[in-house]
Amino acid sequence: MTVKLSKTSKLDGILSWSLNALDTCQGSINPVTKELVPACQGCYATTGNYRFPNVKAPRDFNKQDWQRDTWVSDMVTALDSSRYFRWFDSGDMYDLRLAEKIYQVMQATPWCKHWLPTRMYKFTKYDQVINAMMKLDNVVVRLSSDSVTGEIINGLTTSTIFSDTLPVGAFECKAYQHEGKCNGCRACYNKDVQVVAYKAHGVKMAKVIKILTVKG
Ligand code: SF4
Repeated sequence: MTVKLSKTSKLDGILSWSLNALDTCQGSINPVTKELVPACQGCYATTGNYRFPNVKAPRDFNKQDWQRDTWVSDMVTALDSSRYFRWFDSGDMYDLRLAEKIYQVMQATPWCKHWLPTRMYKFTKYDQVINAMMKLDNVVVRLSSDSVTGEIINGLTTSTIFSDTLPVGAFECKAYQHEGKCNGCRACYNKDVQVVAYKAHGVKMAKVIKILTVKG
């Protein structure tokens, strides 16, 4: 059986494997208020193209597909000629067994640099597998901050969203200057880039920032 990977121009044609957002994003909920954290309130993966059936369908498929026995070996075969791979253009590793399988794929594909953004670091049961992934030379697990105002969280490799001022020491993602495309940049896949900062964009994100600013 073949796995369903996406190839988008946004990522310079780099392959990715994703799930539908929110449904698989336990880390997007503030455990006290039960509301979405600011970064997820403005999430691009819940609007635009991501609502189209042809985009949702492969993500629904993937949610079932990873559970079969040959998924890891099929993923390894699918990455045979890939030098870069992006996990979770949308969604997150909502199940520990999925995270463990992703680790096996990463371990078996040392020729390929993996970038995996996640909020599952908030759950201690993921510590072991995330740490094991981070120890692999070909893997960057980027822990996502909930902030939309540039707050940087602790971690070897992290990311944040900022509105006006680039956080000190962060690498600024310039995709917004290239119609949302990486345009040859590979900073997110680079272990030496500790913090990547994405400039807030889109109407939805602007509203989130406005509300936060009013609240002070
Ligand atoms: S920092 Fe570079 S690799 Fe990461 S999303 Fe932006 S353009 Fe792409």
